[in-house]
Amino acid sequence: MTVLLAAPRSFCAGVERAIEIVERALQRRPHPVYVRKQIVHNSHVVADLEGRGAVFVDELDEVPDGATVVFSAHGVAPAVRVEADRRGLDVIDATCPLVTKVHAEARRFAGRGDTVILVGHAGHEEVEGTLGEAPRRTVLVADVAGVAALRVKDPDRVSYLTQTTLAADEVAEVVAALRARFPKLRGPGSDDICYATTNRQEAVKAIARDADLVLVVGSRNSSNSQRLVELAKRLGTPAYLIDDAAGLRAEWLTGARVIGLSAGASAPPRLVDEVIAALRSRGPVTVEERAVAAERLQFALPPAVRP
Ligand code: SF4
Repeated sequence: MTVLLAAPRSFCAGVERAIEIVERALQRRPHPVYVRKQIVHNSHVVADLEGRGAVFVDELDEVPDGATVVFSAHGVAPAVRVEADRRGLDVIDATCPLVTKVHAEARRFAGRGDTVILVGHAGHEEVEGTLGEAPRRTVLVADVAGVAALRVKDPDRVSYLTQTTLAADEVAEVVAALRARFPKLRGPGSDDICYATTNRQEAVKAIARDADLVLVVGSRNSSNSQRLVELAKRLGTPAYLIDDAAGLRAEWLTGARVIGLSAGASAPPRLVDEVIAALRSRGPVTVEERAVAAERLQFALPPAVRP
């Protein structure tokens, strides 16, 4: 069996930073340290930090007054910050700087009087946070079909933004449909889909056509991992999302000689190693890495947890 290993894969700079923020908070602040929502969308990361004293909550009303709370990498609506302030919570913000960029655009676009069209998935934490920047001026659209149904106040004053973890080719179709409906549409200066999402999608493209099957390591609620699975399928290759090696099914592997392997930006690299080890337990495996980009980006930590 040959394993075609996509590169880049696994942790991005925003996820590494968010995990390090919780680790440092656990070292420096009284326990328990609360984390609003999953710090990143991965069950292994969450279980590991829980084992070290982090308490994950859905909303701030589960956090006692004055306690330390970390905001997750997906960001929060301004109303959440206001509430945390009012409650005297010790907030440490792990929002990815690339999500913060989208929030700033939402404020800027809404501030100049535009209707802001946010391309994204309803219910995703990042989308809820971005919508919260200008709730009365922002409308959410998920796909091309949704564009036709949009109602805006002034079709000449429309801007768009996107969730950071969408499929680049699908977003291009939605933006083309928006531009056809609103010729004066304005958008962000640089893509909102982040570098890590783009690179992982390009890397899956580089392996999917040559693979009999693609495996993506990631959790079900990880948007960028789900998009990798869908992308491989669109390219005609069967693909599956697995949380870890235990998710492998023998029937998928029957007759497969070349397995494509990647991992979403929130999935720890060791889980990929464990999948390769599990494949090796079935017979000899040659691992061939296909790299489409080198990632060196790092984000500074917030002052609250700097050395
Ligand atoms: Fe930031 Fe992109 Fe990573 Fe999300 S996937 S944490 S936006 S770098």
